[in-house]
Amino acid sequence: LWNKCLSIIRDDISEQSFTTWFSPIVPLKFQNNTLTIQVPSQFFYEWLEENFVSSLRKAIDHTIGRQGMLEYSIIVDKGDRKNPPLSFNLPTTNQQNSSKDFTNNPVAKSPFQFKNLDSLELDSYLIPKYTFDKFIEGDCNRLGRAAGMAVANKPGLTSFNPLMIYGGVGLGKTHLIQAIGNEIKQQFPEKFVLYVSTEKFTNQFVNAIRNNSIEAFTNFYLQVDVLIIDDVQFLSGKEKTQETFFNIFNHLHQSGKQIILSSDRAPRDLAGMEDRLLSRFKWGLTADLQQPDFETRIAIIQKKLQDDGIQIDFEVLEYLAHSIQTNVRELEGVIISLMAQASLTRKEIDLELAKSTLKSIVNEQEKELSVENILEAVTHHFSVELSTLQGKCRKKENVFPRQVAMYMLKELTNLPLKSIGYHFGGRDHSTVIHAVQSISEAMETDKSVEKTVKKLFNRFNLNAN
Ligand code: ADP
Ligand code: MG
Repeated sequence: LWNKCLSIIRDDISEQSFTTWFSPIVPLKFQNNTLTIQVPSQFFYEWLEENFVSSLRKAIDHTIGRQGMLEYSIIVDKGDRKNPPLSFNLPTTNQQNSSKDFTNNPVAKSPFQFKNLDSLELDSYLIPKYTFDKFIEGDCNRLGRAAGMAVANKPGLTSFNPLMIYGGVGLGKTHLIQAIGNEIKQQFPEKFVLYVSTEKFTNQFVNAIRNNSIEAFTNFYLQVDVLIIDDVQFLSGKEKTQETFFNIFNHLHQSGKQIILSSDRAPRDLAGMEDRLLSRFKWGLTADLQQPDFETRIAIIQKKLQDDGIQIDFEVLEYLAHSIQTNVRELEGVIISLMAQASLTRKEIDLELAKSTLKSIVNEQEKELSVENILEAVTHHFSVELSTLQGKCRKKENVFPRQVAMYMLKELTNLPLKSIGYHFGGRDHSTVIHAVQSISEAMETDKSVEKTVKKLFNRFNLNAN
C-alpha cells in the first residue's frame, strides 16, 4: 500500500525532494482505514505537512479512498513536544527512540566561506580579541556568560541548544558569542565553528537563489559543528531566508550540533518571525545581557586601560563610570578618545582631561533641548550671528531666522512668551506671537519653509507638526 502511495507521490514532486523526504519514511501498519507511517522527527513531520500535504492526500485518496487517514509516528527528537497542528492526519503517537540523523552526507564544499581559495582553509570568522578573559563578568551578564562557558566546554551536549543571547546595543552580545566560538576552537580544534551575521547569511542566501545554488548553500551550512548567528532580529520579515534557516537549524540541532544566536530583543518581542522558528529559539536557554552596573563599569574601564598599560586615578575612573551608563560600546569609545587625547597632548589622563573629552563627545552625539542649543542650531543653519538674531535689523534675511528661532523656542520649550522675547534683545510678547503666527502660516503655504523648520526640529529628534 505504501509503495503505491510512493509511486503516486513520486510523480508529483522532484526526485530530490522525494529522496530526501520520502525514502526515510517507514510504513508501520494499516488498520481501520488508517495508514501509520514512521517519520524521523517532529521537524520531519512538520515539513511533510507543510510542503507535501496535497500529494499525501492525493496518494491516500487513490489508494484507500476519501475516508482514508494518515497517522504519523514520530521518533522523538530533542525538540519540543507540542501537539502537531491539526490537519487531515489523526493525532500523532510518539514513540520514544533516540534521535536519528537523516541529513545527507555533506556534498562538495561551497567556496563562499573560504579565506582564500588556494589554501581551502575553512574560516570561522572569529575575532581573536573577543575572549572570555576580556569579557568582564557582572550581575548584568552572569547567566549569559556562565551559559556561554558551559556551551564552550561541551558544545552540543548541554541542554543550552540553542543558546540565545539577547540585549540592547553595545551590551556585549557579539563579544560573548564570539568568545564562545574562540573557546570552542581552542578546546576542540577539529570542530568547524562558524560565525556569521544574519545580514551576511541573508546576502549569501539571496546570492544562492540568484545563482541557482541553494543546495550548495544549504549543504555548506550542514557541515558546521558550531553555528553562531549574530543579530537574528534581522531575519524579521524575510520569509524565504527564515525558511531556509529553519531547515538548517533543524538539521544541525538534530545531529547534535551547537547553535548560538544573538538578538537585540527577547524572542517574544521579535515581530515578523515565523512562530515555528521562534519556538525553536526557545528550545534551549535564553539569557539576556543588561546594562552594566557601576562596579562592572569600573571593572570594564580598568581592564581596557590595563590592557593598554595605562594607569589612572580612581577619581577619574569613578567619574567615567558615573558619566556613561548606557552601554559598554560608548564607554569604550570614551576611553579610546581619552587615550588618544592623552597621547596627542602628552598629558596624563586626569579628571580635567576626562571632563573635557567627555564633554566634546556628548555634545557631538545629541543636542540637548536648551535655549542655547536651539539658538545655536538656528544661527548655524542660516549662517547668521547670534547678535543678528538678537539685534534690531529689519532686513528680510535677518527677520526670517529670528522668527524661526522664536517659533522653535515657543514650540520646543515651556518658556513664557515674555521670556522668549527676553532672549531676543528684550522684545515684548506680542512680537513673539507675531513671529509664531508668521512662521506657522509660512509653513502651510511654503514647502521650503516647512522643510527648513522640520530639518531644524530634527536636530533635536522631534517632529514639527
Ligand atoms: P553588541 O553586539 O551587544 O552590540 P558588542 O559585543 O559589540 O555589543 O560590545 C560592544 C563593545 O563593548 C565591544 O568592544 C565589547 O568588547 C565591549 N564589551 C561589552 N561587554 C563587555 C564586557 N562585559 N566586558 C568587556 N568588554 C565588553
Ligand atoms: Mg553585535
